[in-house]
Amino acid sequence: MRRKGDLPQKICAQCGRPFAWRKKWERVWEEVRYCSDRCRTEAKRAARKS
Ligand SMILES: [Zn+2]
Repeated sequence: MRRKGDLPQKICAQCGRPFAWRKKWERVWEEVRYCSDRCRTEAKRAARKS
């Protein structure tokens, strides 16, 4: 039996919540900083504002 908590996790740079590895990130996991497209968009917008 395999434990369910095996997947790597990161903290989202935008919302600060932990998120787990996903299949779609298997090639870019090192570069992933946000939990979702929404957070990535928000982060971009926030950076632009200042
Ligand atoms: Zn997020």
